[in-house]
Amino acid sequence: MQPSNLENSLVYLKGVGPKKAELIKKELGLETYAQLLAHFPFRYIDRTRFYKISELHEDYPFVQIIGRILAKDIIGDKHKKRLVIRFGDETGYMELIWFQAVQWAYDNLHIGKVYIAFGKASLFQQTFSISHPEMEVYPRQGNLKGNASLQPVYSSTEKLKKAFLDSKGIQKLVQVVLEQYAHEINENLPEYIRLKYKLVNKKEALSAIHFPKNALAFKQAQRRLKFEELFFIQLEMWHQKVQRERKFKGLVFSEVGPRLNLFYKEMLPFDLTNAQKRVIKEIRLDTQRGIQMNRLVQGDVGSGKTIVALMSMLLAVDNKAQACMMAPTEILAQQHFQSIQSLIKDDLVKVAILTGHTKKKDRDRILKALEIGEIDILIGTHALIEDRVVFHNLGLVVIDEQHRFGVEQRAKLWQKNAIPPHILVMTATPIPRTLAMTLYGDLEVSVIDELPAGRKPIETKHLVEGQRLRLFGFMRQEIAKGRQVYVVYPLISESEKLDLLNLETGVEQLRYHFPLPEYQISIVHGKMKNAEKNYEMELFISGKTQIMVATTVIEVGVNVPNASVMVIENAERFGLSQLHQLRGRVGRGAEQSYCLLMSGDKLNPVSKQRLQTMVKSNNGFEIAEIDLELRGPGDISGTMQSGVMELKMANLATDQAILQEARKTVIELFTQDPDLNNPSHAKLKYHLTRKARIIAYDKIS
Ligand code: ADP
Ligand code: MG
Repeated sequence: MQPSNLENSLVYLKGVGPKKAELIKKELGLETYAQLLAHFPFRYIDRTRFYKISELHEDYPFVQIIGRILAKDIIGDKHKKRLVIRFGDETGYMELIWFQAVQWAYDNLHIGKVYIAFGKASLFQQTFSISHPEMEVYPRQGNLKGNASLQPVYSSTEKLKKAFLDSKGIQKLVQVVLEQYAHEINENLPEYIRLKYKLVNKKEALSAIHFPKNALAFKQAQRRLKFEELFFIQLEMWHQKVQRERKFKGLVFSEVGPRLNLFYKEMLPFDLTNAQKRVIKEIRLDTQRGIQMNRLVQGDVGSGKTIVALMSMLLAVDNKAQACMMAPTEILAQQHFQSIQSLIKDDLVKVAILTGHTKKKDRDRILKALEIGEIDILIGTHALIEDRVVFHNLGLVVIDEQHRFGVEQRAKLWQKNAIPPHILVMTATPIPRTLAMTLYGDLEVSVIDELPAGRKPIETKHLVEGQRLRLFGFMRQEIAKGRQVYVVYPLISESEKLDLLNLETGVEQLRYHFPLPEYQISIVHGKMKNAEKNYEMELFISGKTQIMVATTVIEVGVNVPNASVMVIENAERFGLSQLHQLRGRVGRGAEQSYCLLMSGDKLNPVSKQRLQTMVKSNNGFEIAEIDLELRGPGDISGTMQSGVMELKMANLATDQAILQEARKTVIELFTQDPDLNNPSHAKLKYHLTRKARIIAYDKIS
């Protein structure tokens, strides 16, 4: 490919130079002309619309008003001079104010003349004013570029502004690049795809996204750039998947053998839900293909993922392979171990547990047994990843609560067998389908979207501080019935000290209202040592304490069926998905359970809406969708896995249709031309080789 001027360093751009180029790089991360063109405006100001003074509102971002200058005065002393202009139209008066260049403005703006004033209006003592408005003589002269219609606004920083690179300054640079080099902007989508989806070409799109001539041009540009962004993400992911499937054969689990059958017929304590059956079938099909399975199972809390994991592991064992299951914490590993032990009978399979706390003697014995294939199923924590853990024939890895494990760690497990084991990832953090497709484009996704029959839905209520005594009364009532209660506090690193203080004050208050010896309280927070945490958890799990005060460390997976009340303090500070996770800690037994969301009396509308969503819905997927709409995907993906891409253009909440199109296009493309040998795919192929990111599984072989 020919070197393009667009790859030039910004140093060479008219009006930039080394100093500014350095600053732009530091502040915005932009180095080349092309990168500057990809620095899209974050909003636009509509300069086709004029406001009357009587229509003004403080919430409007920027407005332009046609009016006449009625009076002008310089007031204040020598050091603090300001110019105040009285500006009026047929609906009222307002003030225009200058604190700088006061004399210059005074001399150049004339009483009696009509101007267009442009700026942000604010209200002070019943009067609207604009500080340092942009002034233009009315009627507007000619067709100033960018001023006639939608004017772009770019993000900038204080340092950039000092170097005259505010939004306006950046706009000028973009303009220069477009004027001189627009003809060098190359199309990067295959023509047939562009035509099929009626997408404007790249050059048109980039010009219009910076300087849209009208709303239609803007919409078309936006659609094209969103498609492109999502298309390339999908392309990279699907490419990785195709490569991986070629490189790695998978173990073939051809049999449903004696163990799985016996378990199903004689040990399963309940009927599987249809959703569980469907997912097990999907796993069965996946593991027969001779290709490594990489499947994500999403299921709301309490949907019964453990049994699916266990049955998959039995399938592996029936096919002469070992299986392991990895949990994010010691407590969870213990719980899995115990619940699996209690489900299987008569030495159906040999199960062991290995964690960081396993004693050396036991560990040595387990490791030896594992290596010669005497252990069928190994449950554990991160400890399973360690190099000294050697399997005889590892066929299936189950990872519970995916988001605590990175891709790197997944890859380490792959290495534990000559033919990489099948991977089953389980998560209780429901992610909307669109997000799943983007984050885990290379994983197949199964969904357990049904809870076992007979569950009583958790009752959720939103209470404010004024109702606290009622809350305590209710807690006492439940504890009197023999139930247990969680009280959870937020702990967000920025204000960790303050939060801890909150928690401590909360505990004091609880101790006062729930005195010893009648009531026992456990406390678990992030600042405690692991051993202490485990000790306190154990007290609660075994029912020796009735109240568990905790920060979000208990969020994931803990199972105490006797706990029936979840109190969440400062609930407005949690994300929706997190609240739902926490709520899932109760409702695990036969009892009616409750989730009580405590908040201050005053809440902003969004917080209120979020808590109302929790009150109304018990469905994790529904909540995740709403969360995505209210917060945007950044926050959600942040809690899922680090290193997730950030989208510049597309919005996963609102652009589902475009994402579907992009994904469909990519899948078709690879089905027809897996090596991208078709000339119309040459550029895509080039893109992928150039991109060749370090992918975890490229490191193994
Ligand atoms: P999670 O998906 O949150 O990991 P678990 O696997 O811990 O859920 O299951 C929650 C509870 O539901 C467990 O006590 C489990 O035994 C029970 N359970 C699972 N599947 C069913 C079913 N099909 N019918 C009745 N109870 C079930
Ligand atoms: Mg679970």
